[in-house]
Amino acid sequence: MARYAMVTDITKCVGCQACTAACNAEWEVPAGLARTHVRSTPIAGTFPHLSSTFYVAQCNHCDHPPCVEPCPTGATSQLPNGIVQVDRQVCIGCGYCVEACPYQARFVNSELQKVDKCDFCAARLERGQQPACVNTCTAHAKYFGDLEDRSSDVFRLVYDHGARRVESQAVAVGPNVYYRGKPQHLELLA
Ligand code: SF4
Ligand code: SF4
Repeated sequence: MARYAMVTDITKCVGCQACTAACNAEWEVPAGLARTHVRSTPIAGTFPHLSSTFYVAQCNHCDHPPCVEPCPTGATSQLPNGIVQVDRQVCIGCGYCVEACPYQARFVNSELQKVDKCDFCAARLERGQQPACVNTCTAHAKYFGDLEDRSSDVFRLVYDHGARRVESQAVAVGPNVYYRGKPQHLELLA
């Protein structure tokens, strides 16, 4: 069984937001909302002479997802391959899962009145395609694959090149989106 993960290399990300645009187009996300966010994080200097890095945020498909248990209908669930999904047919838009997510990765789709978030483009995976954000990244900074597969890019980046989870003592739920970068910069993302 696959164990899916994504890696963003923040040393390559140029902040162009092509991933956000591709994701919004793929999933018809209403204006002003997004499943994938590109955030700028200061890493050195003082205002106004700051240098920054970019942090691409999305659902982390956590090993122990705190968004599942509060769902009163069973719409939010975790698949054996690690993907945390929302069944729109079952979701009632109550938003309990939105409040439970420590990464602010969920939102209520204002057009559907259903909760929405990244699902690693599960429908594309079924067609043998990569997630839209990975497919479109102009800087080749995003990777997706199976952490159980030693030949995958994500295995190499996590186990050979030090890509790591963004966690803190307060939030330790096993996110499966990893980041590669200088350790002092990764510390700033937690
Ligand atoms: Fe759930 Fe949030 Fe973790 Fe995604 S990042 S699995 S929405 S707790
Ligand atoms: Fe479950 Fe939908 Fe309510 Fe979230 S908004 S807790 S997925 S029913």
